[in-house]
Amino acid sequence: MSDGIRRIVALSVLLLGTGLLWVAGRSNNDAENAKSDQDATLAANRERSASNDPRLKGAYRYEQGGWVYAHLEGDPASLGFQHGFLLAPEISDAFPAISTNMTHSTKRDWTFFRQTAREMLWPKIDTEYQQELQGIAEGLNARTGSNLDVYDIVAMNAFEELPDYYVPWLNKREKAANPPNLKSPGNCSAFVATGSWTKDGKIVIAHNNWTNYMNGERWRIIFDIEPKNGYRMLMDGIPGVIASDDDFGINSDGLMVTETTISQFEGWDPNGKAEFARARKALQYAGSIDEYTKIMLDGNNGGYANDWLIGDRKTNEVAQLELGLKAYKLWRTKDGVFAGSNWARDPKVIKQDTPQFDPNNLETSPNARRARWEQLLNENKGKLDVELAKQMLGDHFDSFQKKEEANERTLCGHVDTSPRGVAIWAWGPNYPGGAVQGKASDSTMAQQLRFVARMGHPCGETFQAKPFLAAHPDYAWQEPYLRDMPAGPWTEFHAGEIPAPQH
Ligand SMILES: [Zn+2]
Repeated sequence: MSDGIRRIVALSVLLLGTGLLWVAGRSNNDAENAKSDQDATLAANRERSASNDPRLKGAYRYEQGGWVYAHLEGDPASLGFQHGFLLAPEISDAFPAISTNMTHSTKRDWTFFRQTAREMLWPKIDTEYQQELQGIAEGLNARTGSNLDVYDIVAMNAFEELPDYYVPWLNKREKAANPPNLKSPGNCSAFVATGSWTKDGKIVIAHNNWTNYMNGERWRIIFDIEPKNGYRMLMDGIPGVIASDDDFGINSDGLMVTETTISQFEGWDPNGKAEFARARKALQYAGSIDEYTKIMLDGNNGGYANDWLIGDRKTNEVAQLELGLKAYKLWRTKDGVFAGSNWARDPKVIKQDTPQFDPNNLETSPNARRARWEQLLNENKGKLDVELAKQMLGDHFDSFQKKEEANERTLCGHVDTSPRGVAIWAWGPNYPGGAVQGKASDSTMAQQLRFVARMGHPCGETFQAKPFLAAHPDYAWQEPYLRDMPAGPWTEFHAGEIPAPQH
């Protein structure tokens, strides 16, 4: 793609942004109107001058299928600046939703999270990621005049690890009176398969992201990152965050990576390195399953503890890295399948890191989905491909009730429909959460840095916020942020993609 076209895309993004500012500035009062017009002019001028910033060279974005595709390239500071600048509208929208979730569940204020980010996380973040995070704050400020600084961005990047891992550990240590009921989240359904399990004998990988809808509706970025150092990456992500974080990504050296979290995980190491930084580093620098494991173990802080599902298309090998804090286990094979739905299976990890987890209770979401994965994958041994994977990510069979019913136990989760919620994650009855998007790829696609992705429930159903809030007033606090989550079409993305003509 020529620099000229990139500039046109970047400019059309700017003009669109300016138009929105004008609309937002409308009011009935003439004096206010004049003031708004002035503000809008200032904002437009700021954007125009920032758009000439040399750090933006090569970066562009476009929207497709409900996703925002962002191509970032260059040194760490430039990657960050491009991220903050191009995705400024999405970061400005996501920050209040994410930070409100963090403060609401923990009953800690934002100052607490900023301080934790600055004192505990920041000193152990590699220089290149410090520069990238700083760049995000600068790009965002240049575009919008936002007063969020780098510690706001770092705290936001840690939204999966601080509220549900660090805070419960801290509450226990401080013997806090009446601490809030915080549980490590159960995010995602996924599998990775190879050898005689797949149609072409090569690797197939698939994942749907489970989270609360408030965050999930905003988890709609496709990051194509071409860093100065390390491998090129194509991954999904949430605006403002440097790791995929749900996680699904492929790199140019052949690694294909996803994960599901370990339910009821307990533990934190305050001297460890932030999980989001390790996960990003592993996708950027690992060229093998061993290298991936090594990076994730280096400075393991226990935050956002996952069962990582990894494929290496160079060797056709797949692996599962169950990454506890006190214990971990790596399984690997060139002929097999690993599935994940938020359960741990290594006896040592269960005993030491997730002592409350009961693998035998078939009624819970993780175990019910585990049973469904085993059934579906066994039935389709030798046939697994991306098309089948897409169907499986939208599957609605409840293995416990043995019937079709989209609920908290199905691979495509709809917890909002369930009066049971998911107690082991502290998700109450009808909690507005579940599968919010899905992705799949195979070795052939990964070689060309391609994958397919669908925004919204992978089954194609649309979540509607208004009737939900009317029926479930317990969640009224989400009203300012919770919105409809329409399902988009399955859409293919590839690194270096030239955007379709904008209309
Ligand atoms: Zn569904």
